[in-house]
Amino acid sequence: MNLNEIKGIGPKTIEHLNKLNIYNIDSLIRYYPYRYNIFTPSKIDETTSAESTIIIPGKIVSEPKISYIKRNFNKVSFQFETEETIINVSIFNRAFLARNLKVGKFVTVIGKYNKINNQFVAADILLYKLISTKVEPVYHISSGISVKTISKCIMNALEKCPHVREVIPKYINDKYKFLDTYSSIKEIHYPSNTNTLKQARLKLIYEELFEFMFKINLIKYKNQIFDDFIIKELTKNDLQEILNKIPFSLTTDQIDAINDILKDFKNLKRMNRLILGDVGSGKTIVSFIAILLNKKAGFQSALLAPTEVLATQHLNNFTNLFKDIKVGLLVGSLTKKEKENILVKLKNNEIDLLIGTHAMLEDNVEFANIGLVITDEQHRFGVNQRKSLQNKGNKVDVLYMSATPIPRTYALTIYGDMDISYIKEKPAGRKDIITKQYKFKDIKKAVETIEDELKLGYQAYVVAPLIESEEDNELKDLKNIEEILTSNFKGKYQIGTLHGKMKQVEKDRVMNKFKNGEINLLLSTTVIEVGVDVKNATIMTIFNAERFGLATLHQLRGRVGRSSLQSKCLLISDKDTERLSVMENSNDGFYISECDFKLRGSGDLFGVKQSGEMTFKIADIRRDYKILLQCKKDTEEFILNNIETNFRDYENFQEILNDVINS
Ligand code: ADP
Ligand code: MG
Repeated sequence: MNLNEIKGIGPKTIEHLNKLNIYNIDSLIRYYPYRYNIFTPSKIDETTSAESTIIIPGKIVSEPKISYIKRNFNKVSFQFETEETIINVSIFNRAFLARNLKVGKFVTVIGKYNKINNQFVAADILLYKLISTKVEPVYHISSGISVKTISKCIMNALEKCPHVREVIPKYINDKYKFLDTYSSIKEIHYPSNTNTLKQARLKLIYEELFEFMFKINLIKYKNQIFDDFIIKELTKNDLQEILNKIPFSLTTDQIDAINDILKDFKNLKRMNRLILGDVGSGKTIVSFIAILLNKKAGFQSALLAPTEVLATQHLNNFTNLFKDIKVGLLVGSLTKKEKENILVKLKNNEIDLLIGTHAMLEDNVEFANIGLVITDEQHRFGVNQRKSLQNKGNKVDVLYMSATPIPRTYALTIYGDMDISYIKEKPAGRKDIITKQYKFKDIKKAVETIEDELKLGYQAYVVAPLIESEEDNELKDLKNIEEILTSNFKGKYQIGTLHGKMKQVEKDRVMNKFKNGEINLLLSTTVIEVGVDVKNATIMTIFNAERFGLATLHQLRGRVGRSSLQSKCLLISDKDTERLSVMENSNDGFYISECDFKLRGSGDLFGVKQSGEMTFKIADIRRDYKILLQCKKDTEEFILNNIETNFRDYENFQEILNDVINS
């Protein structure tokens, strides 16, 4: 059902909803609050302290007075009768509230009470009398749409479609005595009390994690039962020949990973392997070797990258190292003609390796003889894509690379369908990146440190967080930082800017200039986060570093230190958080991820906020890890109990779930 079929939603509202990624009824009713205000009425008595915020219902007993103290500074005050006494209430900068405040009206004031002068300074006023505890949802909103409107839209949507699909099997719902999905969603938006709200959340979290683990376990299960897979005929000698062409010696972990892959190639089962390595540990070369082995066995390969910049980087690196293999590039920016040309060659087996972005997942991309698909920065793609890659053929081995090191136990669960090779060691000669926090008042020193590197001919990254909250004046946005940089470096060094709102071709142009050295300093939002390899860049500066999760900080820092040059990382922040000191004290991604899980501050999950597979609407893998484990168990059992349904014939997960649940 479309949004415009719901009462009260017109074209303007639809526009605003779209900005919040709400495009249909399902995404509307599942636009969950990110937190709740819990209001509990209290009393003024001898235990009331001047420090704590209290919530007092009562009646306005004097005509509210507005005084304009200064420009942009006003005060509304009135006398207020509570159950026990009469107090003087004032609230600042809310003159607009006054028209709703009349003598005799019952309202609830929230704020602090000073007994000595009988003054109550309100931070907020609820325009009704709070009788019992009330739980009020808070939503992320964008300008142009209010919480009230969203809440109303959701209410109307729920009324219009009183049936929501259940995701989990009935016997499981019964076993845990869960609420049904419809009631849970309703409760999430219109909580009746904290207890029921808890139950509703639990149901929706379980449901989300069940679906996730179901997909993973189904892939695992299918890979186990289909053993009519082709064996790639390869010898140790084939591998040695390839290794001889590589200009550096590989680390032990890299060699181990390659041997794992070779073993998989020669096995009757489909390879479904994840290379989990720290940033800069050299995963790419491992995948290149896999490609060469696969070619020796007589098959084509595909290498999928999340961005065009990365795809092009892989192309250049590959062709620099290995000449006798035919490589094609398939990315969105190609002309129709260029694309067709590539597709024809691919089908005629005139291309050994296709490197590209999402574009190559499309159905019209047909290979003559594909035997290996590799996904770089795997965490950026979803579980569904894991499947669509395998579908390219029954000779297709699949290899994933991920630079988000996560603790082993978590990896075993969320990558439960894959075998994992770990690359922990860094290539020989790499130095730890010297990391230091600077306060804003010391920004001059930081700028000098950056200039020291630029003077030597090296390049610099500067990262600024996006503006997320408008109230936060402290936040130095891109523009402010740009000013600091240009005032210091203008005329001396070339500065380039990169942010998410730019068109892809624009971004690529700036990025390429940086790679060529035409730009000395690259100012960017986190769009540079993934995979970029510029060896001459030796200093990374991150503004408002406290805003980023540990995983993101580590990823960002990993853009430097990619050669034997000593690199530096400057964290600009006025806050002394434990995360920042973890960064100062360690360069080890696996250790840092352990800390990340322990500290579990707000922020991103594994630093992969935009990732396809780990953006849950309500679940949090770390917080809800116990539920995740339960889902792992329950989905395994569910699959085993339904073997006779033969999952082999189903095309998509949803179909299976629907069918099994309704049968
Ligand atoms: P990541 O694991 O972050 O994807 P890359 O694969 O981009 O890292 O490798 C980082 C850099 O290290 C690349 O420039 C690569 O050529 C280089 N490299 C990889 N392995 C080695 C090695 N064993 N010795 C020296 N340099 C290496
Ligand atoms: Mg990489």
